[in-house]
Amino acid sequence: MKHLECPNGHGIMSVMDIERTMSFRGEDITVSVPVSKCSVCGIEAGTVEQVAHAQRVVHDAYRKKKELLTSEDIQRKRKRLGWTQNTLAHKAKVGVASVKRWELGQIQSESMDALLRGVFNETDDAESFEGNRPFSLARTKLVFRTFESVLKRKLLFSGDKGLKTTKYIWYADMKAYQELGQGMTGAVYAHLPWGPQFDNYPQLFEMIHKADETLAPPLSPEEKRIINQIANKFRTNKSVFDAAHREPAWKNRKDGEKIPYSTYERLTQI
Ligand SMILES: [Zn+2]
Repeated sequence: MKHLECPNGHGIMSVMDIERTMSFRGEDITVSVPVSKCSVCGIEAGTVEQVAHAQRVVHDAYRKKKELLTSEDIQRKRKRLGWTQNTLAHKAKVGVASVKRWELGQIQSESMDALLRGVFNETDDAESFEGNRPFSLARTKLVFRTFESVLKRKLLFSGDKGLKTTKYIWYADMKAYQELGQGMTGAVYAHLPWGPQFDNYPQLFEMIHKADETLAPPLSPEEKRIINQIANKFRTNKSVFDAAHREPAWKNRKDGEKIPYSTYERLTQI
């Protein structure tokens, strides 16, 4: 941090945190901010950086009091979803300059705050657990069948009951969500002792067996490419099962907890 000289000629001033109560937009706000102070004459001054920081601290304290998202809240929620400032701006239908200003401390209006919360919550509740696609048994079976044709062996009716083979589908869904913005099956995944698994396994696995894959929307060339890539990386059930257990997306969760699609950015094995 840059040090300031006392304007009364007493040399370098020391930087200290000073608690202040001030009125901001009609609210009494108490904050602790760094200020340069002369120990001889007591004069106070702030560098440009200190003033900018102080302003952000005041704005965030005001936001907390008014129950608005703070700069830090906005950044944390955005980064947790793996979004850039541009992505958030696009989803909220605002300019990227607004997102930048809010993250630097400018206070968003109440209506903008509601909009931001809506964008974040919608993503938490729906998009990130279902991969931005309605769940389809037929499509899940189609993805299984496509893996079978690349691997040249059975995954369904193999006696495995999906214990290990479902990991192929999980990787396909996560990877498709990452690259195409949409999963392949719409399945919801949970942390189970034997790895990432369909949320309501094993009832679901029986229903997939009975589904008619010819009723599913066909796979796009990009989806087929992703399936090829995963199948070629993991030739055996054991290798895909073991890899899934090394993923932080699975390791960092408790039993029964849902695994959001947004964790794709932390996949380490593909
Ligand atoms: Zn002085």
